[in-house]
Amino acid sequence: EFDVLVIGGGPAGAAAAIYAARKGIRTGVVAERFGGQVLDTMAIENFISVSHTEGPKLATALEQHVKDYDVDIMNLQKATKLIPASEPGGLAEVRLESGAALRARTVVISTGARWRQMGVPGEDQYRNKGVAYCPHCDGPLFKGKRTAVIGGGNSGVEAAIDLAGIVAHVTLLEFAPELRADAVLQRKLYSLPNVTVITNAQTTEVLGDGDKVTGLVYKDRIHDTLHTIELEGIFVQIGLLPNTEWLKGTINLSPRGEIEINDRGETSAHGIFAAGDATTVPYKQIVIAMGEGSKAALSAFDHLIRTSVP
Ligand code: FAD
Repeated sequence: EFDVLVIGGGPAGAAAAIYAARKGIRTGVVAERFGGQVLDTMAIENFISVSHTEGPKLATALEQHVKDYDVDIMNLQKATKLIPASEPGGLAEVRLESGAALRARTVVISTGARWRQMGVPGEDQYRNKGVAYCPHCDGPLFKGKRTAVIGGGNSGVEAAIDLAGIVAHVTLLEFAPELRADAVLQRKLYSLPNVTVITNAQTTEVLGDGDKVTGLVYKDRIHDTLHTIELEGIFVQIGLLPNTEWLKGTINLSPRGEIEINDRGETSAHGIFAAGDATTVPYKQIVIAMGEGSKAALSAFDHLIRTSVP
């Protein structure tokens, strides 16, 4: 039985575990893969006060910091079901894929998200070598270079506008006949001199020289012809999928599947808190996930001191 059970071992989960453990309460972390998305990241240059680090190094530091405290880390364990307490102050239950069931007075969910991939040849090979998913993170790496943005929804058009201020040229490729972004964003996009928009374009391949991206191939879906664009960077903006499928029907999720939270990290269920990329919090970033995880753990502690009967 835990006072705070954290589900997810990324930046949000690690922060929540540390904040909870520092209150001297029984804390546990269940993580499918401790470190989270940080493990898939190379250069990190916006982790404030650290000019440059690398994903695997930060992931190791996260785990080391959690291990400074008396936290029960259950790594390589997947949560498959949440049953919130039936009455305020009761125990919630979390079931794991292994068949185990854990009980806790509060739960912090921080299961993160994953970027939807194009699923074309070259994408995996050149991930972090020109194929990127986060303009806030990797935009400055392409200063003065040619880039493409895949996807003409709000996030794709925002990314293209953002990148246009940094890189030499942006080509935005949209599969459908029209961009789906808000009109105000589209107006801004079309006013920029170094942006080209191509619609009815299906990316079919990422090209590279073995070390890094050199271009992409797309199919013109109207004329059924293949075209090559020479460039150095490709930002894939076709969706961020929260890892919340296992929560459907248990707590309120937004239409995009994000866990709905308030400004204290509370979900729709009593004693269940959430933080980081899995939630409705805007801007999915490491420092934001850490702040949100800390906040959710403090809210869980506040809940405990208000519901505990001496
Ligand atoms: P995550 O990091 O996604 O962690 C989720 C955790 O939950 C993982 O441990 C996962 O295994 C676990 N989990 C998921 N489902 C379950 C389940 N059912 N049961 C148990 N555990 C589960 N941000 C920056 O600030 N700077 C950067 O430079 C940067 N670069 C990035 C580069 C790439 C390639 C990617 C993919 C992301 C990058 N980001 C960057 C974004 C940043 O990594 C995320 O915002 C951050 O990791 C979110 O933290 P989180 O803890 O909310 O989720």
